[in-house]
Formats: sequence, structure tokens, C-alpha cells
Amino acid sequence: TTSHSQELMDLTDKYGAKNYQPLPIVIHRADRIWVEDPEGNRYMDMLSAYSALNQGHRHPRIIQALRDQADLVTLTSRAFHSDKLGPFYKKLSQLTNKDTILPMNTGAEAVETAVKAARRWAYDVKHIPDNQAEIIVSEGNFHGRTVTAVSMSSHAEYQRGFGPLTPGFKVVPYGDLEALKAAITPNTAAFITEPIQGEAGIVIPPAGFLHAAYNLCKQNQVLFIADEIQTGFGRTGKLFACEWENVDPDVYILGKALGGGVFPVSAVAADREVLDVFEPGSHGSTFGGNPLGAAVAIASMEVIVDEHLADRSRELGEFFIEELRAIDNPHIVEVRGRGLFIGLELDEPARPYCEALMNEGLLCKETHDNVIRFAPPLVIQQKELEDALARIRKVMAR
Ligand code: PLP
Repeated sequence: TTSHSQELMDLTDKYGAKNYQPLPIVIHRADRIWVEDPEGNRYMDMLSAYSALNQGHRHPRIIQALRDQADLVTLTSRAFHSDKLGPFYKKLSQLTNKDTILPMNTGAEAVETAVKAARRWAYDVKHIPDNQAEIIVSEGNFHGRTVTAVSMSSHAEYQRGFGPLTPGFKVVPYGDLEALKAAITPNTAAFITEPIQGEAGIVIPPAGFLHAAYNLCKQNQVLFIADEIQTGFGRTGKLFACEWENVDPDVYILGKALGGGVFPVSAVAADREVLDVFEPGSHGSTFGGNPLGAAVAIASMEVIVDEHLADRSRELGEFFIEELRAIDNPHIVEVRGRGLFIGLELDEPARPYCEALMNEGLLCKETHDNVIRFAPPLVIQQKELEDALARIRKVMAR
């Protein structure tokens, strides 16, 4: 007999575009780190929706904020003010130490916003000749799936068949200061980088790179833009991954956990000099900054701070990485990570391991072909991580 789960997966297959290849599990309900399928089987979530669920599934405080706001007003558009927008800006400004915020919905939209801001800043403030602004990006980057975001990519499959692409991007090897130096010209507007590359397989740049790259940008009047959509809000063991090298970027691009896994909320946080290039009519979004998202984002940020999720991530991450490194399996090439942002690289495809882990009740996902990403909700407890390790050891020992 066909299970309910199978019927639901068949339905998705029948009507859906095939732009994803999910593991064969249907999630029906979730709580904190646990998810359940329609048959009642329970799994530990070790992916956290690509770090959008740092606060765990359905955090009570965030759900309460959603409910309370739903009873008041959900959408005003930016044609009018809402009473939640200012408090949302203030909270995000305090956390990022940036004085200006521009709200959007998804990560890719925030990336687009940063690109537009950097280009206009280049013309209006740096006085680069019209249409000559260049933006430097890193090999292996992931900034999203819009045409401009894939134009920044060095990954052929992200771009195949989607041309003509957006011009004006220069790719340098990730973490290579000399290459960055050589790529900067008088027309360089910005260097956009992930402080740790997520989709590339949890790739950490050489020690000192971020700090040196920031200084290099300062010397050349180039904006240092940190895409912390995946690394931000405690994931790497600091509130923002740039803090690992005491870098205060000119621009933060944020998303994912800003909405607590409850509502899509993204934003650009920057100094006024940068975001003041936008005047009315130059940029916007119908849903950007909507009261429901703003209320959810305020609660999401409060949870990150009040529950010390960055510190938890750092402490539990150290423990988890150490235990993963102790697993004896000749196919493991490397275990690397910061906080609970961990990649386990294999010398063979990771997908079968993810399937086997799923069968042990642990959900994670391969990134590229041979890296397993472990990024559980930051509210996970030490004994639950030990439980996860037991399941991982069982699969890895096979
Ligand atoms: N930038 C980074 C570093 C990301 O990890 C992601 C998503 O994985 C994005 C941008 C795109 O965000 P979204 O999928 O919300 O458009």
C-alpha cells in the first residue's frame, strides 16, 4: 500500500517544477529541533532550513509575535507608515551597529539591493564614470538565484541557459588577498563576500584574510559588503561571522534567521552614506518591511540575543566538531566549521550518507557533491547533540 507520505511526494512531483531534489521525507509538523512526518516518525533537523531556523522550529516567542501582529495589521505597503517598522529598524541597527536599514523579503532581494546601492554609491559618492562600476566577488560564492545573483557566481550550472547575464562582476579566488589587490581598479565599487562560504561547503578563508581584505578596501575607497545571510545571527558562534576578525563591514546583507524561520524577512544594514543613495522611487518592495515580518523579526532578534544563541553555537560547535573529527572513517577528508556551522567533506558522494542518516532519524543535506552540512538549530541541547552523534557514528561506521 502507498503511504500518505508517498502520495504527497507523488503529488509534488506531478505538479511541481523539478528545480529541487529533496530527500524523500514529508514534514508535517515541527517543534524546536524535531520534525515529524504524517506517519508520526520523528527526526532531528540538522539543516535548519539552511540556517533560517537558528531559533528552532516555531519558537513560542516568535509565534506569539506573529499571532499578536496578525490580530492588528499584516500589510500596509510602504505607501503608509506602520508602527512596527521603526522598532524593527532600531533593533537591527543596534545589533549591526549600522545606522540605516533597508528591508526586503528574501536573501536574493537583499543582495540585489546591496548591488544597486554599491553601484549608485560608486557614481554619486566615489564619482566613478557612468556605467563603469565594478564589483569584486569570490570564486565559489552563493548569493542567490536571481539573474544578477547568478551573474556573480563562478558555478557554470547556476548560469547555464540564463544569459545574457548582468555585467560588472569580477571573480577572484576566495580568501586570496593578492588576487583581490590585483583586481581592484579605480572603478571598483565594492567587494562582496561571504565571511564563511556556506553553499560552497562551509569554506573558511585563511586566518587574517577578512581583516586584511577590509583594510585593503578602506585604502582604496571600496565598500566591504558582507553577505551574512547564512552566517549571521549566531550561526558561526558570533552574532555575525565578521566579528571573528573584528571586521565592521560597510554593508551587511541579512536574511534567513532574521525571520526566525517563520516569515521571510531580509535587509541591508549600512551606514547612511551608502543607503542615502536611494531616494523615493529608486527602490522598493510591496512586502518589504511589512508589519507582520517586522514584528516577527523583532522577536527573532530578541530570541537570538536573550537566549545567547551565538555563545551556545560557539560552545556546542567546538564539542561537536571535536567529536566528528574523532570518527574513524577512511572516506572522511576533513571536518571544518565555526560554531554549529559545520562541513564534513568526503572523498565520495555525500547523498547516500544523508539518506542513511535520514533512515536513522537525522535530517541533513549534502552541499555540492561530497560535503555533508551539519547546522542544527542553535537551541539544540548538548544531550541532543550526543544523540545526533550516536546516529552519525552508526552511519559513518558502516
Ligand atoms: N546569500 C547567501 C550567503 C545564502 O546562503 C543564500 C541562501 O542560501 C542567499 C544569499 C539567498 O537567499 P534566498 O534563498 O533567501 O534568496
